[in-house]
Order: sequence, then C-alpha cells, then structure tokens
Amino acid sequence: MIVIPEDADPKDPCWEVAYLQLAHGLVMAGTRAKIIARFTDLPTKKIQRLYRALRGTNPPAGPIMQGNARFFAIPGKHTSEAWSVQCAVFLACFERMGKITTAPAHRGWQMLAAFTVYQSLTEKLYRETAIKRLDINQAYALLAHCGFLAHPGAAELQRKECPVCLISYPVVTTERPDIQSCPICAINANNIRLSRQSRRPASESPPATA
Ligand SMILES: [Zn+2]
Repeated sequence: MIVIPEDADPKDPCWEVAYLQLAHGLVMAGTRAKIIARFTDLPTKKIQRLYRALRGTNPPAGPIMQGNARFFAIPGKHTSEAWSVQCAVFLACFERMGKITTAPAHRGWQMLAAFTVYQSLTEKLYRETAIKRLDINQAYALLAHCGFLAHPGAAELQRKECPVCLISYPVVTTERPDIQSCPICAINANNIRLSRQSRRPASESPPATA
C-alpha cells in the first residue's frame, strides 16, 4: 500500500485508486462508515456496498466517537492498567508511522498503517492471554482525543513519558496528574507485591525498582 500524502485530493485521478485501497483496508478492519467517509470522501452508499461485497455485512452501527478521554487513560470499572498499555502501544505505532516519510502522511492512511502494525505486535499476547485490544474505532477515538486528527474540540489526552521505564502513556489533561501514574510501573509494582505474598524466601524475590 503506497503512502497517501496529507494533501492528496481524493478527487484527483492520480489518488483515486489509493483512496479506494484505503477504504478497502478500513472496511476489512471494521471501521465505522462515517469514519471511512471522513477519510476518503466516499459516499456512505458506496461504503455500504463495499462492506457487503468485501465482508457480506453492513457497516458496524454506533456513534463515531467511542468512549470518553478517561476511558483511554484512567483504569476504571471496565478498564485496567493493561488497557492503558494497549493505548500507549498503539500511539507509539501511530507516531512511528508518521515518520516513515518526510512529507506528512494522510491521517487515515497513518491510522490504518499503525493499526496493522499494532495488531501484529500484539497478536501473540492476544492469542496466549486473551488480552483486550483496541479495535479500530477505539483507535480512531483515542487519536481524536489526543488531537492527532482534525476533530473539533480541544485535545483532552496528552502523552507523558515515564522517567523510570520511558514508556509514553496517555494522561487526561483535566485530571490530577498524581492519580495518573505509569501503567507499566503499576503492573510491575503489583507483580512484585504478588511475588512477595507468595511466601518465597526474600532472597529470591525480584528487587524493587522504585
Ligand atoms: Zn513507568
């Protein structure tokens, strides 16, 4: 799949095929029709036809923005630190994909390319542990909350680098920073606590990193 530059006009005959390929990829990833329309300028009817032809289904229903900013950054009723790590991994993929060309890439292209890399990176873990992964519509919402897409509204999420493990993880700008600690370090601390509880001799416990 060739890189679509940010300023490529979907109506330009030179880019028509590339945009159609992008639409195919987004359909195969299960992207909501409105998001595909926003990125490719294809009419909704045509996107519905693509869904039926390529997947034998209608596009998934539901709102264009899934979850609020907190959902992606602060562990809650339905999310955990592991979920924040998934968000951090996807954002790192997106950032990396933005660097493969000198000219800025089309955001929809960059999102799909990042999502493809994210899925292959997490595939083994997903199969072995059934860990919860972002779907492409959540990935879109995450990017929009971070201000990486031309989406109305201020960016509610920012990335913060952990000084200990160096991961960049999303934080909610309007929430207190002290309740938003690094998810990797939180998982590590929890593992250390669990291993201490398992009554092993102190000499065999992993050293505390803090
Ligand atoms: Zn950390």
